[in-house]
Amino acid sequence: MSKKFTPAITSNRWTPEAEEPLVGLWSKEQVCAFNPSSKKTIYSVDTPPPYLSGHVHLGQLIHYTQIDMIARYRRMQGLEVNFPLGIDRNGLPVELRVEKEFGLKMHSTPRAEFVEKCRQQLDLYESEVTNAFQRMGMSFNTYSSEGSYRTDNPRYRAVTQATFIDLWNKGLVYSDYRPNNWCFECGTTIADAEVEYTERPTTLSYLHFEVPGSPPIEIATTRPELLCACGAVFIHPADERYRGYGGKKAIVPLFGLEVPIIESATALMEFGTGALMVCSYGDEADVMAYRDFALKPIAAVSPEGKMTQAAGKYAGLPVSEAKLRIIAELKEQGVLYKQEETTQRVPICWRSKTPIEFIAMDEYYLKQTDYVKPLLKIANEGTFYPDFHRQILIDWLNRVTVDWPISRRRYYGTEIPVWYCNACGQPSVPENDGQLRYYRPWCEDPPFKKCPKCGAEKGFRGEDRTFDTWMDSSISGLQIIGYMRNPKLFKRAFGNVIRPQGKDIVRTWLYYSLLRTYQLLQAPAFKEMWVSGHVVDEKGEKMSKSRGNSPDPFPIIAKYGADALRMFGVLEAGLGSDVRFVEDRLAGVSKFMTKLWNMARFVSMFPVPRGIEFDQLTDVDKWILAEVNQFIDRITPDCEVLDFHMPATEIRTFAWNFLADHVLEMLKGRCFGTEGGFEAIEQESGWYTLHETLKVVLRALAPVCPFVTDAIYRELYGKKGIQREPFPTRRPEWKSGLTKHTALLLATDAGFWKYKRENGLSLRQALPEACISVKLRPWARDLQAMHGIGKIRFSKPKDKSFVVVPLPESEEVIYIRPPSLEKSP
Ligand SMILES: [Zn+2]
Ligand SMILES: [Zn+2]
Repeated sequence: MSKKFTPAITSNRWTPEAEEPLVGLWSKEQVCAFNPSSKKTIYSVDTPPPYLSGHVHLGQLIHYTQIDMIARYRRMQGLEVNFPLGIDRNGLPVELRVEKEFGLKMHSTPRAEFVEKCRQQLDLYESEVTNAFQRMGMSFNTYSSEGSYRTDNPRYRAVTQATFIDLWNKGLVYSDYRPNNWCFECGTTIADAEVEYTERPTTLSYLHFEVPGSPPIEIATTRPELLCACGAVFIHPADERYRGYGGKKAIVPLFGLEVPIIESATALMEFGTGALMVCSYGDEADVMAYRDFALKPIAAVSPEGKMTQAAGKYAGLPVSEAKLRIIAELKEQGVLYKQEETTQRVPICWRSKTPIEFIAMDEYYLKQTDYVKPLLKIANEGTFYPDFHRQILIDWLNRVTVDWPISRRRYYGTEIPVWYCNACGQPSVPENDGQLRYYRPWCEDPPFKKCPKCGAEKGFRGEDRTFDTWMDSSISGLQIIGYMRNPKLFKRAFGNVIRPQGKDIVRTWLYYSLLRTYQLLQAPAFKEMWVSGHVVDEKGEKMSKSRGNSPDPFPIIAKYGADALRMFGVLEAGLGSDVRFVEDRLAGVSKFMTKLWNMARFVSMFPVPRGIEFDQLTDVDKWILAEVNQFIDRITPDCEVLDFHMPATEIRTFAWNFLADHVLEMLKGRCFGTEGGFEAIEQESGWYTLHETLKVVLRALAPVCPFVTDAIYRELYGKKGIQREPFPTRRPEWKSGLTKHTALLLATDAGFWKYKRENGLSLRQALPEACISVKLRPWARDLQAMHGIGKIRFSKPKDKSFVVVPLPESEEVIYIRPPSLEKSP
């Protein structure tokens, strides 16, 4: 090997630590900054602001890197990418955490003090999450606080409040006392969108209800603890068993309440005994029944999860305990005559996964049922990646039946900007005068002296409730493009926003965002909606902080590197499907980084020739570049639908199985100029081809693996790095008819290797003579150099000294004259 060929890439190994200096360099160079006055098209990425409720976890990081790939890809496509870092800080989880950490009860702690503790706790977690994001190569425009947003920032909250005032003035907000989903664990009303269902085993108890003048009626119930809230017994009008019972009264056991027996088609004849005990707020059907028959509700359970005074001697007991005692007493009195095990569909809270109850409270509601139709149109016509996740939104929209309760009895959230007049009691909101202001009615006077309703000046009581946190996060897509703050930017950027997110928050975050934007602007919030699957553990369980099945990401990043983790995330599953985390497979991906580095280092031995034209290249090199074109053609369609699974797989296969195994081996001899008597122009042609090919591979891989690709690119092709380079597109001039023989060529290589391996020969062993297909004539000299073939021929030899080597997965054969080994030392 000639001495002049020393690799331009000096480091002979790529390690995860080598990624670290790039984090600082990118931040210093501001390579991903957003320039709002750029002439390019603005493309905004409405990233889910991570919720700070604890330590950052692996599944979360993998999810975010896939969003980062979108931003990087679009940037390389020449768009001006607005990709701010947002942090969601409002809401329940931090409050619960502060209560636990400091042993406090929120409602008995001074509000200002509690809010301050939440803030400190959030700051702690925020630095961990931003550090992890930076280490993972998240290309946010900046990590500085000016370029980022926090949902608890006064600027952000002021916009949330201004949008509320807007909706209030449009008559879309009202207050009502009605039963709502209530989570005891979270201590708050929750919206239907946050309710999930699970199957749980339960006991069905059969009871006798006395009916004066008739035999007792039989009732099967899973919730005997709600007997004190029973308001009616329903029977199906067609149920022969209860002919003549309709209109009579039944006596509720233990509590002696007299309740009407009502014929209603909602009673299911095949469930239990066919007669249904209807309780206030027992389940959704009960709530509807009370509404339909104007029954007077009785609350059996308090917001603290205890029995109320209505439960008589059971008052004050936790529900589960009351249930046991009531069952015992029903048995004692002979009212309970049978029990059987069954399963029940139980509504649970999306966050805490604990069962919810219906509890009646005064809440503010935002009208949403009127918007189902226009939102269905958006859901049907919008662009979804992958298209099949559109259905989650459509299914949810078809289930929206009640308005959205938006008020919460919490502290760490955006305050509802409402004051109540001491004279007339009427609520009023500040004027929307275009000046953004952040209001805190619990500790501030309103910006008006006179009651806008009655004109009195008797002072006001500030509202002390906060908004459901989805009220804040649902306008992140508007906030990031300067809604109400930067009209110039907003005008340019609205309409070209992508919403990337997980499938678990389609009916909450995506739905609420579409609803809110439609209510404010009568337009779709997003041009594109990108919905990914979950990251699950080896058993297929969703990784989450609460399940404790998500390993600490930092040691994993230190061991395998951010690039490997990023690429692993896309290699494992297509967009929208779940990614299963298996460490061994991640280790396998990290080997590809090493392979890529070694390939690049090999190519870096050769100078980058200038001024060479495509026409001057050898046929083999034209063929390689035509293969590169085909590779670009294969990855482009999936990149266009923002699914990097197939492209990542394809890049790995192309780089490893085609370039490393075949192309580098084949061009070695020519590029070093040591074998085959190649001319200088043929040697340069090889150098040029290797560099062009490497550039394409690096640029195609850059959104997925920004570290290793940028490091190589900077060493070889310029200090500006890879991030603003164009994403590869096919080059029309790169074409060759030889690509039709690619499969035969690869099989021929494999044939030579197989022959040498099977005969115990080194791969470098020279072969005196071989015969290959005539179709491969253009490759002949490179193949001779590659396999050490002394003489090459294209017609079948008659000479019996040749051995026939069948080619794998091919009809064709090659003929090899074995080397006379006794001559070898
Ligand atoms: Zn909950
Ligand atoms: Zn008034």
